[in-house]
Amino acid sequence: MLRAGDWGASEALGQAAGRVESLRDRMQAARPLLEWLPALRELLRESGQWDLLRTDAAGIKGITALRLDDQAAADWGGWAHAQRRMPLREFTAWVNDVLEGVSFVPPHAGDEQVVVLPLSQLLGHPFAALVLPGCDERSLPASPEPPAGWTQAQRRLLGLPSREELGAAQRAAWRRALQAPCTEVLWRASDDTGERSLASPLVQALLAEGAASPAEDARALRAERATGVARPTVQAPGLAPTQLSASSYEDLRRCPYRFFALRMLGLREADEVEAEVDKRDFGTWLHAVLKTFHEALRDRPVPASERASLLDAIAREGIEGQRMGEGEFLPFAAGWPALRDGYLQWLQKHEAAGAEFESAESAHKVQLGPLTLEGRIDRIDRLPGGVSLVMDYKTEGLQVTRDRMKAPLEDTQLAFYAALLSDRQLEAAYLNIGERGDVKAVPHEHLPLAAHLLKEGVQAELRRIGQGAPLPALGEGRMCEFCAARGLCRRDGWSD
Ligand code: SF4
Repeated sequence: MLRAGDWGASEALGQAAGRVESLRDRMQAARPLLEWLPALRELLRESGQWDLLRTDAAGIKGITALRLDDQAAADWGGWAHAQRRMPLREFTAWVNDVLEGVSFVPPHAGDEQVVVLPLSQLLGHPFAALVLPGCDERSLPASPEPPAGWTQAQRRLLGLPSREELGAAQRAAWRRALQAPCTEVLWRASDDTGERSLASPLVQALLAEGAASPAEDARALRAERATGVARPTVQAPGLAPTQLSASSYEDLRRCPYRFFALRMLGLREADEVEAEVDKRDFGTWLHAVLKTFHEALRDRPVPASERASLLDAIAREGIEGQRMGEGEFLPFAAGWPALRDGYLQWLQKHEAAGAEFESAESAHKVQLGPLTLEGRIDRIDRLPGGVSLVMDYKTEGLQVTRDRMKAPLEDTQLAFYAALLSDRQLEAAYLNIGERGDVKAVPHEHLPLAAHLLKEGVQAELRRIGQGAPLPALGEGRMCEFCAARGLCRRDGWSD
């Protein structure tokens, strides 16, 4: 991106860029919706767009939809989500969603040359010519199916039209359509699935009566050879990164093309505003709760009998801190007592074996030649004998966590953390915390070897990328199911 100083000799351009930059800078910090809206209004004012929008019908519609007016903004006051801090990306996604949800129809002058209408609304519109598309057997049946949900008797009781009445109305609309001086009737020969479809029985009757004649098809057939989409691959030696996190290395191992798209190009899916608390929010909340709980216990230990109420208080604060309503948290709140008790029981045994909490979500870095490995570790405990235990919390199914250790040398996450802490004597485990309170540690049995191989592998792989090695799309495993680069690699269109 060009910065203000990069605009060459043009002073005017440099000043304009500097002004745009200062406007952009003010919109970077996260804030609640109630503060985003005045900031956006101010931005529009200062950039000279506010008055233009206010004099334009579509602009007014946008302002109204976003509640940008002073008084309208008060409408958001009672909405709990409006109090929650949103980063810029989330606010932008919210604006997109709101604007997508409204449509602007310009006032019409009544002098259109082409009008699109449903068949049933042709009555009283004397058109010079008519095109009736979609006259196939499914879209224009002689006797339309009444909308589902009601029996014949219920429809009668509710005064809804019967199948016969719907059929009569359809045929009447059809007859009226054919009154136009010139009518072109079109139907498709096959549907979206490629299945053949016939003309509507109404069209067939017309042809049988000789009241219409088939027109010449102006389209010419053309022979085409099917060509499949090949798996993409790319070389990007100039973009080889010099910093790597555990998750980006995981991407590189599983699918180099995904690594290229998301980590080297930095592409990202547009955020959607999620009103509901999902499993990921639950995981984030639980990580934060356990961090605060263990730091509180370390700094001010409480007797075992008081741990549950301390954890409850922190959990409650966590819900408020994330600005989640009690109602939104309800699906997880029901399981909280079991989860809390299960965790505390596990902790008691863990501590009885001599483990002692050291840190949570601590940031670490290590230099490997020109490459920096960096990561944030969920939890480090001290074990007897000067050993450190690295733990990564998992709220997924236990089997999914166990599967990570089926081939321990393939797992990158714990090995990556071990590489970050290579100056320590180390053990590592995933700590699976089930929603029903089953807490199980799944240890890494070959940690030193895995860390050694990872350090060798990561350097060699990044060296190869820097030398122009291809980054192919591998397209295997669960990773493709939720991959943000799926559209880019055309995963659904590959021919192999
Ligand atoms: S969808 Fe699959 S193949 Fe395509 S980039 Fe993502 S992980 Fe790779």
